[in-house]
Amino acid sequence: MKFSTEELLQGILAQDKRILGKAITLIESKKPEHRVLAEELLKKILPYAGKSVRIGITGVPGAGKSTFIESFGKFAISQGKKVAVLAIDPSSSVNKGSILGDKTRMEELAKDENAFIRPSPSSGFLGGVANTTFETMLICEAAGYDYILIETVGVGQSEVLVADISDVILLLKVVGTGDELQGIKRGLMEMVDVIFINKVHEENLKEARMHRSELIHALQFQHPKEKDWKVPVMLGSALHNEGLDEVYEKISDFISLKIKTGRLEEVRKIQAEKRFEYWVHQYILSATKSTHELENQFESHKKNASELKSNPSSEAKIFVESLLIKKL
Ligand code: GDP
Repeated sequence: MKFSTEELLQGILAQDKRILGKAITLIESKKPEHRVLAEELLKKILPYAGKSVRIGITGVPGAGKSTFIESFGKFAISQGKKVAVLAIDPSSSVNKGSILGDKTRMEELAKDENAFIRPSPSSGFLGGVANTTFETMLICEAAGYDYILIETVGVGQSEVLVADISDVILLLKVVGTGDELQGIKRGLMEMVDVIFINKVHEENLKEARMHRSELIHALQFQHPKEKDWKVPVMLGSALHNEGLDEVYEKISDFISLKIKTGRLEEVRKIQAEKRFEYWVHQYILSATKSTHELENQFESHKKNASELKSNPSSEAKIFVESLLIKKL
């Protein structure tokens, strides 16, 4: 790393995109010595972070997430805001479709000086899939980005992960196909704060309105995630820039409400606690690889577990206890 953490900090605060990119590369690095620097930088960043609106955007592939992010990002910029786009991707680098790294996506937004787009990392800390999107977000906040748009990529855990770092969850849907076909999983609706039905045009307007009524009806029977907030269901087109102003307004209303009720702070605290536990796991795992002796022990317990010589949980317990005796 050519730059000291102080130089990185100054570059970030000066909104230098090149330095911003370098800082994020450091955060995403697999090397333990880089992680030490990353922690040092994050400590310096903290007083400058936390002031943005963190928007998680979810929806099945093809729903129009990238198109929406491009249009919505441009709209937010027209309102005088700065926008950063990040991806959350719990899957490994294998099986990954075209993601934010694909240059053809969000082309216009990428060119805008008030936007910053960062592709999702291909792998994380120590070769795992450590989730550094939150740390990347802090860096972007310190660089003055007002809106952080976090796109879910891949399958499985991504909705849960995005909920763990966002202030508001926006679900993109399309008209015409049922929830099962859209891969909307049970439980997802309970996590959502704002819904946008995308790809609504003249010819399917009637159908879209019916779909909206059904959704609103279904939402009535759901335990509200936030008191005093009715999940709005909006119609529009990301491709034709229709309905985005309304989404922007609803998100602002939602954030204002959460600030007023203290929920924004409260939820961010709960999220931080979860992240602490996550990093405890990460650091314990990394400590197991810090010496050859530990690594061998780790592998031998793993082998015992895989050969069903004993319970995986018992093997883990023995190993962690021996680690603690060694005081890591
Ligand atoms: P993602 O996989 O959720 O990121 O979806 P994309 O943004 O890549 O969009 C998938 C396809 O839907 C692309 O061909 C878009 O051009 C198209 N699309 C996005 N928004 C609209 C819309 O409002 N109307 C129509 N007709 N097509 C759209």
